[in-house]
Amino acid sequence: MIKPLHTFYLKNKRILMRVDFNVPINNGRVVDDFRIQSTLPTIQYCLEQGAGVVLMSHLGRPNGKVDADLSLMPVGETLSDMLEMPIKFSDDCISEDARDTSLGISAGEVHLLENLRFHNEETQNDPYFSMLLAKHGEIYINDAFGTAHRVHASNVGIVDHFKQKGIGFLMEKELKYLKESFDRPRRPVTLILGGAKIGTKISLIQRFLNKADTIIISGGMVFTFLKAKGEEVGKSLIDENGVAIASQIIKEAKNQKAKLVFPSDFICAKNIESESIKIYSRRKIPKTMMGLDIGPRSIERFRKIISSSNTILWNGPMGVYEKDCFSKGTSSIAEKLVELTEADAGQITIVGGGDTAAAIRSYGYQRNVSHVSTGGGASLELLCGESLPAFTALG
Ligand code: AMP
Repeated sequence: MIKPLHTFYLKNKRILMRVDFNVPINNGRVVDDFRIQSTLPTIQYCLEQGAGVVLMSHLGRPNGKVDADLSLMPVGETLSDMLEMPIKFSDDCISEDARDTSLGISAGEVHLLENLRFHNEETQNDPYFSMLLAKHGEIYINDAFGTAHRVHASNVGIVDHFKQKGIGFLMEKELKYLKESFDRPRRPVTLILGGAKIGTKISLIQRFLNKADTIIISGGMVFTFLKAKGEEVGKSLIDENGVAIASQIIKEAKNQKAKLVFPSDFICAKNIESESIKIYSRRKIPKTMMGLDIGPRSIERFRKIISSSNTILWNGPMGVYEKDCFSKGTSSIAEKLVELTEADAGQITIVGGGDTAAAIRSYGYQRNVSHVSTGGGASLELLCGESLPAFTALG
């Protein structure tokens, strides 16, 4: 059994917490603090209970070398602003100085360790490195969902060194929405897929063919499906390697619960840079044009499907949402999910995938849906029913 945070007695304890502070940094400043915000309730709870908190995370891919651009120092500054208190920072995660700082922290204090991946031993799940990390705390809490699918020292090897170990509130929330809500889902279940890459979403579609009632396939990936159906898609994005798989999925879907739904019209242009746009019905896209967003009839239809669903999972933007002229599909779906969530009639709305989560946050809606996942690969694996190493290690 994995122990959730609220079951621990935390007063005057040192909590060693693995968090996912792998956030974008530009010119020494955090440019998107979503992952830090998402871990805040766990950190604050520990502090309120009278614990001292030692935080460890990776940032980027420094490949075992110290890289000033990938220092967690800017994250520490952002965290300190959010907590409205000073925090301690160590420039190495396993140095004696860092360990002494951890041993010396008092109740209500926070100590952030430097990037774990400045040491190759982190990604190698090295036992000695795990043992050194473990010296920072008395209770181990993992709240780093973004790395839950990895077998690393700070989330797998380390757990053997603790009697008292468990997960934080963010991990609990990710499990609740990405796993438990699909164990016995509130029907109808709708899966909305978009984005460019089909490869990463194939297992998700296959798993949901008998879990969902409707699967909407949209974004750039839909053209591979339409091509598989023999339809004209002009110059739209095609994953040539994916056509056979798309054909197979369309065939499989005929004998499964889920109905596949495709857009009926598209916003098209000659290329992504062009702002001269035109709406074409599906099958009528001219050879010189590419579909870059869904059209108004598709938006209307998808919004109706969403309205009559009780569990909705959305992964992948409807179009090239980064450009205003191709963002209407994505923002309209986001608005509908918010409307449904705010009606407070029990519908569950879950958003996953880096780009979709970024889109929803750019509209300021991250708190207006049931859950926005902080994981990319980890959320896809959990949704596909796989067991993630970080949870298995704690189970
Ligand atoms: P993914 O990482 O597979 O979820 O893909 C996200 C990317 O898909 C975003 O950068 C979107 O701009 C892109 N995208 C969405 N719709 C289209 C489309 N119709 N054509 C090309 N790219 C698209």
